[in-house]
Amino acid sequence: MDNYDVIVAGAGLAGCLAAASAAKNGMKVLLLDRNKESEVGKKTNWGWVCGEAVASEHLDFVKSKFNINFKYPEIELKVDGIFALSPDLQHRYRFDGEGYVLDRPSFQHRLLECALASGAEYQQEFEVESPIIENNFVVGLSGKDKAKAHKDLRAKVVIDALGVATALRRKLPENPYVDREVDVSDLEATGRYLYEFDLDHEDLNFFDPKSALIHLDQNIAPGGYGWVFPKEKNMVNIGIGVQMESLNIRNKKLNKKDTLHTLMDEYVKRNPVLKNLRLYNKNNNGKGYWSVAVRRQMESIVFNGYMGAGDSVAMPNPLSAGGIGSAMIAGILAGEHAASAISSKDVSLKGLWKYNVDYNRAYGKKTAGLEVLRVYLQSLNNDTINYGMKTFLTTKEAVDLSYGRVPELSAAAKVKMVLKGASNIGAFNDLLYAVKKMKELNALYTKYPETPEGFAVWRETVESSMKEAKERFKPNPV
Ligand SMILES: Cc1cc2nc3c(=O)[nH]c(=O)nc-3n(C[C@H](O)[C@H](O)[C@H](O)COP(=O)(O)OP(=O)(O)OC[C@H]3O[C@@H](n4cnc5c(N)ncnc54)[C@H](O)[C@@H]3O)c2cc1C
Repeated sequence: MDNYDVIVAGAGLAGCLAAASAAKNGMKVLLLDRNKESEVGKKTNWGWVCGEAVASEHLDFVKSKFNINFKYPEIELKVDGIFALSPDLQHRYRFDGEGYVLDRPSFQHRLLECALASGAEYQQEFEVESPIIENNFVVGLSGKDKAKAHKDLRAKVVIDALGVATALRRKLPENPYVDREVDVSDLEATGRYLYEFDLDHEDLNFFDPKSALIHLDQNIAPGGYGWVFPKEKNMVNIGIGVQMESLNIRNKKLNKKDTLHTLMDEYVKRNPVLKNLRLYNKNNNGKGYWSVAVRRQMESIVFNGYMGAGDSVAMPNPLSAGGIGSAMIAGILAGEHAASAISSKDVSLKGLWKYNVDYNRAYGKKTAGLEVLRVYLQSLNNDTINYGMKTFLTTKEAVDLSYGRVPELSAAAKVKMVLKGASNIGAFNDLLYAVKKMKELNALYTKYPETPEGFAVWRETVESSMKEAKERFKPNPV
């Protein structure tokens, strides 16, 4: 049996950075992944399935910790911001802020280099199968190495960075801290294609070489959205995410049998400016399908001897499904906190708890509010979204909401709506309710328990608040 301070399972974004930061803090670290080194970070047989867009502040955070200067080829293109377009394309919100479109395979190589340079040991082609549990503590993991030989590996702390389908979190002992399952209504099924193309004509509603485009459309992407992200030269990253419950309702109402795949193909086909599409299939990464959890991160991301980082503990932003930034922040914090708990000789839930508190401060505190906003949006059909973007919400308010800030939408605003003759007052009332709930949940998350003692009561309050919101907002795509 091998002995490490820290085993990091999964060499994706969270995993490489967790290994780098634990090793940098003096720990003996083993980083494991099922892929060959040449394919580090590949999520599934479908490839490095991702929209590849990341805000510059998230790259800055990594740079500030590891002094990495990201450049081409891992960074393909700088974008000025994101536009969200209404279903009828008549209204758009601009979300300012510099960001980048990455080449995920090259980016992963940079992060692996960082882990190795920091002193982590790396074992490729290792399939993680389950945690080793002793006395209600995770004390290591089991799996199969390259030769398919069974191996038990032991460590003081195991960091789970296995992504959304993790074989670790799902096999933790039953416990009141980390959920083992994600509700299916909190998952988005996604498809993403990479194409080279010729531009038929300019139309910034369908392709913008300087901005990321998001299409809100409950018909083509029920319970989710479509995206067109520019890449280098004449390349594009195009995809959709759907909530299966919304898709089923939409199919039933419209008497259709669409699937994620048929909708994805239709979304590509109906784009009038992308012509002569050639699948960019380097490393078999041209077409891929995968899932993203769009709930708040697990209420606790630690258990005895266990820490979760990235998609393994549902960290993507519930509104945008963007999880690159949160995975990188969490990976770095997890490595640092693992090292400090090991140095303090307490890797129990209590000893690791500060990671919960710090991740919450750094990113997690806004996600429960954003989950409410997500279920609210899923309850609107295209007509209401068109109407709402035209009438209800200014760009500033929409931007505030998307960052988890709560704008002042008050009773006075409601009176104004009535005076304006707004006919869709029910949907506006729902928005006011969603905003109130966001406020409530944001306030609860600012009181995230500093120690495990107050956790049970806090969690119950969060869950009952969220339940109320989910009971009010049911998917209603068409
Ligand atoms: C279609 C799509 C589009 C997206 N677009 C964006 C976007 O534009 N911007 C954004 O910010 N986010 C986006 N996301 C989300 C983002 O890709 C993820 O949040 C991010 O990859 C999470 O990183 P991670 O390190 O937690 O997990 P992953 O990237 O999933 O890495 C997990 C690693 O663990 C390995 N692994 C898994 N199981 C095992 C096992 N049993 N044994 C050994 N190794 C294993 C995997 O092979 C992989 O290397 C998108 C996601 C999808 C699916």
